[in-house]
Amino acid sequence: MRSIFPAVLASASMGICVSSALPAQSPLPATTAEDRALARSILREIIEINTTDTPKGNVTTATMAMRKRLLDAGFAPQDVQLLGPDPRKQNLVVRIHAAGSPAEKPVLFLCHMDVVEALRSDWTTDPFQLVEKEGFYYGRGTQDMKDGDAALVTTFLRLHREGYRPKRDLILALTADEEGGRFNGAQWLVEQHRELVDAAFVINPDAGGVELVNGRAVVAAVEATEKVYSDFQVTAVNRGGHSSLPRPDNAIYELTAALNKLQAYSFPFEMNEVTKAYFTSLAGQETGQTAADMKAILATPPDLAAAARLSAEPSFNSNFRTTCVATRLNAGVANNALPQTAQANVNCRIYPGHTPEEIRQQLIGIFGDSKLTVTYVSDSGEVADTAPERKPIVPPTPIPEVFEPLTRLTEAIWPGTPVTAVMENGASDSIYFAQAGIPCYGFSGIALERDDDRAHGRDERLPVDSYWKSLDFFYSFAKALGGN
Ligand SMILES: [Zn+2]
Repeated sequence: MRSIFPAVLASASMGICVSSALPAQSPLPATTAEDRALARSILREIIEINTTDTPKGNVTTATMAMRKRLLDAGFAPQDVQLLGPDPRKQNLVVRIHAAGSPAEKPVLFLCHMDVVEALRSDWTTDPFQLVEKEGFYYGRGTQDMKDGDAALVTTFLRLHREGYRPKRDLILALTADEEGGRFNGAQWLVEQHRELVDAAFVINPDAGGVELVNGRAVVAAVEATEKVYSDFQVTAVNRGGHSSLPRPDNAIYELTAALNKLQAYSFPFEMNEVTKAYFTSLAGQETGQTAADMKAILATPPDLAAAARLSAEPSFNSNFRTTCVATRLNAGVANNALPQTAQANVNCRIYPGHTPEEIRQQLIGIFGDSKLTVTYVSDSGEVADTAPERKPIVPPTPIPEVFEPLTRLTEAIWPGTPVTAVMENGASDSIYFAQAGIPCYGFSGIALERDDDRAHGRDERLPVDSYWKSLDFFYSFAKALGGN
């Protein structure tokens, strides 16, 4: 996914935008016209390779194309490794070596190469052609996240050409099946080839980013933690019978009664270090009741009435607690038969620190009906009686070696924009590295209008100017993280 900002900021009350008052020129080493041309050609090449998890898609075609560019530029074959569990889902791991023997562990840039399916008939342009129109690049993946893939490949090519030798290794992983599919590359790499992707921390450009309101940057959101995605199947079974002879026991009624209880239930209010910092920052920009409520939830103990008022906003609600919601329903086989089975999918977004199995047990308690079964559905669709006891993810502290350069570069490129750590309500590949004990920070380096999030949607597009700024950002950010 590409980040959904965790909260809708009230633009009228921001009062923090000073960008228009400051000089427009950036003090950073600007990306040259040649590098922009290179970045555009890389973006075009990968947008025009279909990497959906469909019969037409092939991630390997795209990772091989990037491997060829890196080899042609002089990268050693052992530093551009193509590997994966499926011929169509090969991941690429690129490494720039440190000078000498590094004292610090590497930095990993984690980028997924797959995209969500897009149909020509739904789009104004061909989703698998890069089309430049009125200051935007159109195409599937221009926001999620072939923009980041192309920017990082360009950055690595540029660093290599300049003979850059960091103090620690810099790694770029271009991976398969983040959006779905059976061969998630991030998970496979960290579990099967830890030595290739082991790092002090991960920068994931699939999350976070700069939010624009009418062209002005208002916040630079850095994803520091995220919720855990889990599906559960709730099933009621019954011996059925003729519909002319109804009985009190009925699979559909039993299932819907359980779902009504779920609708009425709210998981407990929670905060962690990341959401506390986020709402502290937000409280300073809001006014009136909203600002007062934000301050009240930060008190010890938190004011739950204030939390309830703020929870009317869905993005705040999701940032406060685990959520579980019915998303699909399937029951009965004939209009004139009592249903023998009624089944619902319940999709949960679990607050960091809880396991899917813990939530499954809670669902059983909420339903309070021993006739129902609650099973776990894995990402690849397999149903299991119990859910994983996945290690709870403790949000990492915002470390200065990431936030100092990120804040400095944000100020240089988007002056006056506050940098804030956030907890994403959605999920990304960061989860696999977080579970492996490697802290992850999500930042796209891309500035997008708040109401122009088209990831997974039709006519996905990227402002050309935002693309250029992301090149400036990642070049300087990679050098700041790499040292030297
Ligand atoms: Zn994504």
